[in-house]
Amino acid sequence: MTHTAVPISFWIAFGNKLVPFRLFLAGIVFSILPDADVIAFKLGIPYESEWGHRGFSHSILFGFSLSILACVLTGWFRARIEIVLLYLFVSILSHGVLDAMTNGGLGVGFLIPYSSERFFFELRPIRVSPIGIKNFLTERGIAVLKSEWSAVWIPLLSVSASLFLLRNLIRRVIGASRGGDKN
Ligand SMILES: [Zn+2]
Repeated sequence: MTHTAVPISFWIAFGNKLVPFRLFLAGIVFSILPDADVIAFKLGIPYESEWGHRGFSHSILFGFSLSILACVLTGWFRARIEIVLLYLFVSILSHGVLDAMTNGGLGVGFLIPYSSERFFFELRPIRVSPIGIKNFLTERGIAVLKSEWSAVWIPLLSVSASLFLLRNLIRRVIGASRGGDKN
């Protein structure tokens, strides 16, 4: 669920006007969508395969193609097309970026199908999550939540809340100066 921190933070930072609620919801879906690939385990596809977990569905090409495709819904999102593309692409790509900052599993296949190399970043402060809700209620699950909170949620929410406050402050200052002009 920590993957949703990115679209949530961007929504808080940029506001409902630039990122309307429908686009925000799509961003949430895009940020978790790549993990639909866990179905690969059920289908017997090995983790390290290009079609396996953290494979093609986590790649830049997949994220970009899906974001372009979603632009057909621009009218429904009630947003500008470049905002739809950018917001959804950042939401879906951030999924792989966060996965590449975890301390377990295999790396992320950002460049599939051009290269099957799996990537991790140097900095990997996020503990890899156990799969399944039941496993979250263990000591390990709590340690994971703590690491996600301190490495992802706190920094992102701090920045987005600051931008939110700054945006409101600027709007008030502009509003006040316009009001002043009238008087
Ligand atoms: Zn993932």
